[in-house]
Amino acid sequence: MKAVAVFPGSREVKVVEREGPRLAAPDQVLLRMLDIGICGTDKEICSFEYGTPPPGDDHLVIGHESLAEVVEAGPAAGRFAPGDLVVPSVRRPCPHPSCLSCRSGHQDYCYTGDFTERGIKEAHGFMAESVAEHERYLNLVPPDLREIAVLAEPLTIAEKALEQIFWVMRRRPPWLDPETPRDERGRGLSALVLGVGPVGLLGAMALATAGFTTYVYSRELPPSPRTDLVGAIGATYVSSQATTFPDLAETIGNIDLIYEAVGHSHFALEALRVLGTNGIFVLTGVPGLQAFVEADPARLMREMVLRNQVLLGTVNAGPGAFADALADLDLFRRRWPAVVRTLIAGRYPPEQAPDLILGRPAGIKTVITFNAPA
Ligand SMILES: [Zn+2]
Ligand SMILES: [Zn+2]
Repeated sequence: MKAVAVFPGSREVKVVEREGPRLAAPDQVLLRMLDIGICGTDKEICSFEYGTPPPGDDHLVIGHESLAEVVEAGPAAGRFAPGDLVVPSVRRPCPHPSCLSCRSGHQDYCYTGDFTERGIKEAHGFMAESVAEHERYLNLVPPDLREIAVLAEPLTIAEKALEQIFWVMRRRPPWLDPETPRDERGRGLSALVLGVGPVGLLGAMALATAGFTTYVYSRELPPSPRTDLVGAIGATYVSSQATTFPDLAETIGNIDLIYEAVGHSHFALEALRVLGTNGIFVLTGVPGLQAFVEADPARLMREMVLRNQVLLGTVNAGPGAFADALADLDLFRRRWPAVVRTLIAGRYPPEQAPDLILGRPAGIKTVITFNAPA
């Protein structure tokens, strides 16, 4: 079968021919991969910044955002039947008995760092014709989401963040009642998304769906398909080339939530200075090597203490976030059908993967497909 793999030793990215997978345990499920999304992580792996093959292999099959169809379910994987659509999660637990997170199925909170990640760290990914996976790592997808379910994994970043934001909000004004429906939890609160890439846009959609008055702030000058999308979901786009952070804060009023989706340290630091009273600042971007910036930590500490602020970093996602992502994709589809049709920029054969990954991304999400849609 075909797969797209990176060879860190010889610094190559190419389509390879590999032996197809077989069910190796009774709880495994054999999957035919339908869609595999590409993102900044794939670009960094294919630029050899990170990405580790499994022990003993010279290559790593990439791909972590995916949608698959069940071909065969093992005898202990009765939850699934041939024809079911599934989205696999990415991170797999570390082996240490002492890791409370991994031992309780929360490897996205792993303490040791010895986890593996499919398509990223010491485990082959999903950009292949077929994959075998344990049923506990699979999330069942309703057939109605066939066209967009490949967005579930990137959307889990926002969903895991929202889960934590809601926990924090239950402990502080405006005292979120846990019974509040998901689409009313942000009512009366403002959210500022930094960045207009896929993570920022999906984050803005999730925040708007949760009822936050949502703003998206980035360099890009409108109009563009991405800034148009922000308007189409009822959020407000503001360009950093036209409006400074202090002016933006004046427009918004108390900024209750900032969702950072750029991975740019200077931009994040500037934003932290306009975070409102009782505000929560969520960091999701992972900066590479960047220029040293001057900061005024005393002032930042003073503001954070005197304003009861929360700084929250979040990575990866657990089963709850996948379930929320699939539920939200269904809401997006009903609420903004025209927007949802533009989210997938195109579907391309695996041979084009290396160029697409390393080139400039067009549209919101570019997808590699081994099996054209039925
Ligand atoms: Zn990704
Ligand atoms: Zn662990």
